[in-house]
Amino acid sequence: NDAVVTRNKVRETLRLFQAICRKLLHEEEAKVKERGKTRRRVDLQASKILKEKGKYVNIGEHIIGSVPGVEVGDEFIYRVELNIVGLHRQIQGGIDYMKQDGKLLATSIVSSGAYDDDTDNSDVLIYTGSGGNMMSGDKEPEDQKLERGNLSLKNSMDAKNPVRVIRGDSKGADSVDARGRTYIYDGLYLVEKCWQEIGSHGKLVFKFKLVRIQGQPELAWNVVKKSKKFKVREGVCVDDISQGKEKIPICAVNTLNDEKPPPFKYTARMIYPHWCRRLPPKGCDCINGCSESRNCPCLDKNGGGIPYNYNGAIVEAKPLVYECGPSCKCPPSCYNRVSQHGIKFQLEIFKTESRGWGVRSLNSIPSGSFICEYAGELLEEKEAEERTGNDEYLFDIGNQLNDNSLWDGLTSLMPEAHSDAVVEVQNSGFTIDAAQCGGVGRFINHSCSPNLYAQNVLYDHDDKRIPHVMFFAVENIPPLQELTYHYNYMIDQVFDSNGNIKKKSCHCGSPECTGRMY
Ligand code: SAM
Repeated sequence: NDAVVTRNKVRETLRLFQAICRKLLHEEEAKVKERGKTRRRVDLQASKILKEKGKYVNIGEHIIGSVPGVEVGDEFIYRVELNIVGLHRQIQGGIDYMKQDGKLLATSIVSSGAYDDDTDNSDVLIYTGSGGNMMSGDKEPEDQKLERGNLSLKNSMDAKNPVRVIRGDSKGADSVDARGRTYIYDGLYLVEKCWQEIGSHGKLVFKFKLVRIQGQPELAWNVVKKSKKFKVREGVCVDDISQGKEKIPICAVNTLNDEKPPPFKYTARMIYPHWCRRLPPKGCDCINGCSESRNCPCLDKNGGGIPYNYNGAIVEAKPLVYECGPSCKCPPSCYNRVSQHGIKFQLEIFKTESRGWGVRSLNSIPSGSFICEYAGELLEEKEAEERTGNDEYLFDIGNQLNDNSLWDGLTSLMPEAHSDAVVEVQNSGFTIDAAQCGGVGRFINHSCSPNLYAQNVLYDHDDKRIPHVMFFAVENIPPLQELTYHYNYMIDQVFDSNGNIKKKSCHCGSPECTGRMY
């Protein structure tokens, strides 16, 4: 297995891991509710499944320097993810190392985020060596020795070899989710200095000063932190494009020129035509919230379970998700109500070089999170075709990728966990037009390797032909990374009013780009 590990392969592997975690967590949550059992570590179970199936990447020789397919700024929720992609192979140890010509050399370290705060310089990291029983309460503390990890860092200083730094971020990233700390790959550092001092446990510890190698991209997390500190985001031209219609303001940022977003009417909700009578579904009676054990009819419609984890992440892509709705007796905090509550990340629209405006988040987004709805006016397709003016903001309902291609591999790895509710939501003859009236979803651009997918959701009515179109994250998304989904156009299948084939080139910039949107 010496094929070059691509970016796509790494993303695919991590997506698969995260999907398995959500699936296992879902099973755990159903059990915990029933028996109050303590939780198994789903991350360790998921990694075991991946390992057994040979899905780990970069598993050969230890690598000094960059790891193929992993980029500076990549975020991880579970520490074992670092291991799965070959970024840091120690399960617990903070220093990973290898032997080269009989000498130990450090390859990577995981820092708990203890920065040299005096200098407020995020390019400098003071790292404490390992050993000496610093952490364990039941063992006698002792001096740290110049062996293993500590020795490897000292040797790396002498040899001037780059060391990968992964920051375990406790005070940093604004993860809305409480799944623990986020790990961020901070890039390559050089060990500049090494000394001994008396540690908090009264014994000698090793200290290492690492300095980030110049020329690497700045962490988005730092950019966001700076703009918070100075309370301005560079290039802001509209403070809130939603004009108070969303719970969190959405600003418009343009650092390229002085253009503002073209006018449109903001709506956070779908707008339905007068002929469209939407009947509320019969709700459930779960006064204390819905759960698997309470025979909730809403959960039955989802194939017997809540389609979400308790942290709000969607477990897997489905043809249709039924959330509880206005006629249900469960409280707003019911785990079966997620996308109806609206945006929960601080989103902004920004001017791109070649794709008009796009959308990104100032927060870190964990895989599976709800992002926003594609809100606009509901039209019948015929009507949409008549609106010849602007077809750039049309979303054809039922035209989503239903082949699960973004979650590939899950069913083959966990066949027993596969839900069999594969009722296709075909092209239903309805379109959402967000040209004149729309929500932030209208600004999300297409990508050939996207980080979001569109999920059909019903909650306030029962008409399967016109579900809400809700975007969810298919992977962990660092702050400021553009949010995209696959428009799913078919090449040479888009026509103008004279029946001529329309062509549009794609500027998504991903290595998988096919060159054309349609
Ligand atoms: N960029 C749009 C804007 O400024 O309002 C928001 C997205 S809008 C739903 C769809 C339009 O965005 C497309 O018709 C195309 O003009 C542009 N677009 C989206 N993704 C693109 C891509 N990958 N490459 C080139 N243009 C893209």
